[in-house]
Amino acid sequence: MTGVGQPPDQDCIFCQIVAGQAPATRIYEDPQTLAFLDLNPINPGHCLVIPKTHHVTLFTLDSATYEAVAATTLKVAQAIQSALQPGGMNIFQANGVVAGQTVFHLHNHLLPRHDNDNLRVEVHGLQPAGVEQLEPIAERIREQLG
Ligand SMILES: [Zn+2]
Repeated sequence: MTGVGQPPDQDCIFCQIVAGQAPATRIYEDPQTLAFLDLNPINPGHCLVIPKTHHVTLFTLDSATYEAVAATTLKVAQAIQSALQPGGMNIFQANGVVAGQTVFHLHNHLLPRHDNDNLRVEVHGLQPAGVEQLEPIAERIREQLG
């Protein structure tokens, strides 16, 4: 499959933005992707990159669509960095409610960062894991990769 998503969802705000049926401050688009400013920005320049086709999460996404989203994310991240010169940037993407997803159309957040902006991103546990804990998990994942 190449770039095949679910049909546009009439109740999906991002599908409505793609179709021009809902307003958005667009900053870039190509045939497969769209980038626009987040309506509730964490910092100036907080931007979303989405596939134009409706995909809920990464779990059912095809490689071609992911590559298009990644390419647009790179292009727009570099433009934000040049234009606004934040101190740094996070790329954030949530899959599922438990992961913090609130709009169920796949999207990358591009989050320009500044000193003391009060956004906390924690990606490390408090304790290191031993190889006896890591290896069985790795084996289960490798089995799925074939
Ligand atoms: Zn959608």
